[in-house]
Amino acid sequence: MEQIAVSTAKPAAPRVRVILANPRGFCAGVRMAIDVVDQVLDVIDERPIYVFHEIVHNKHVVARLAGRGAVFVDELDQVPEGKIVVFSAHGVSPQVREHARQRNLTSIDATCPLVTKVHSEAVRYARQGYQILLVGHRNHQEIVGTSGEAPEATQVVESPGDITKLKIVDDSKLVYLTQTTLSTDDAGVIIDALKLAFPKIKSPPSEDICYATTNRQHAVRMIAPRCDAVVVVGSKNSSNSVRLTEIALNVGTPAILVDDVSELPDPLPWKGTGATITVMLTAGASAPEDLVAAICRRFVDRFAATLEQWDIVDEDVEFNLPATLKRMMTKKGIDPDSRRIRVVKTPISSDTYGATALTVSAGKARA
Ligand code: SF4
Repeated sequence: MEQIAVSTAKPAAPRVRVILANPRGFCAGVRMAIDVVDQVLDVIDERPIYVFHEIVHNKHVVARLAGRGAVFVDELDQVPEGKIVVFSAHGVSPQVREHARQRNLTSIDATCPLVTKVHSEAVRYARQGYQILLVGHRNHQEIVGTSGEAPEATQVVESPGDITKLKIVDDSKLVYLTQTTLSTDDAGVIIDALKLAFPKIKSPPSEDICYATTNRQHAVRMIAPRCDAVVVVGSKNSSNSVRLTEIALNVGTPAILVDDVSELPDPLPWKGTGATITVMLTAGASAPEDLVAAICRRFVDRFAATLEQWDIVDEDVEFNLPATLKRMMTKKGIDPDSRRIRVVKTPISSDTYGATALTVSAGKARA
């Protein structure tokens, strides 16, 4: 009888090409907020110190700081009188600041300056007699904080469907402001609908959606259509990480949001072109780079992946530490200027990422 040779070898794993988006991950506001908590823990001997809400929406960051002696609370009444409390990057309302004063707490405000900018706009327009239509997610801490600056004058708009429910006194005294981490596409749809309903509505003096949100979303729009899949590193409660995933899906590329390497599927569920699967890897503004590096190592170890970094926008942004913290540092003989927060592109080494990445400039990425 004729013998048929049957191969028992497993089919070869697909080759993986990983394209790292630049920029990705930490923005200057998140870096500043995390550094504030680390600095307070370095400078102050007392434990615990309290943080009002998650300092940034990332479970790894929160767990690390909790391990150092930070306690995260959702109510200021959980902070014992006279203790230190740090306000998160998303900002708080004046009512919360006043409540902290009444409880004799030492408040350190780690609100991102770009969120504070929107708060200032709300205060200014309300004083000038404008009604404010605040585009964003009603229950997000940032929107709760911004609304609190002018509660009588502010109405939240989550979708075009909310427009008919608005109570407008004078349509020539209307302004819209937005949450800093919205999808620029989604916000555009709502803003267009507002302009159609209220042609005299005023725009904010400068864009409220921040540079970090805009740049990370732009990178996804540029790179994702040329990939078989997109992996976004970030926590499920991180607004800007969820938006990156949605944008990838909107351009027609399968996308997943993972907190860390343990959530990376294996085997990979995506089909590549020929024998290669091209995966875009990016991270929300609150996701630490070591989580991205661990995913790269997994791709390299498991699928012999090649790494490329596509430079869409090179960021170089610096924020100052809050004044209260600077005073604490100076009292302890630490020069606050030695700890300025500057966020630039992360170098990629084979030790940390499993391989060195080929860098592709924005021009070539567009070609
Ligand atoms: S995402 Fe934008 S607004 Fe939010 S902390 Fe970062 S820079 Fe600030």
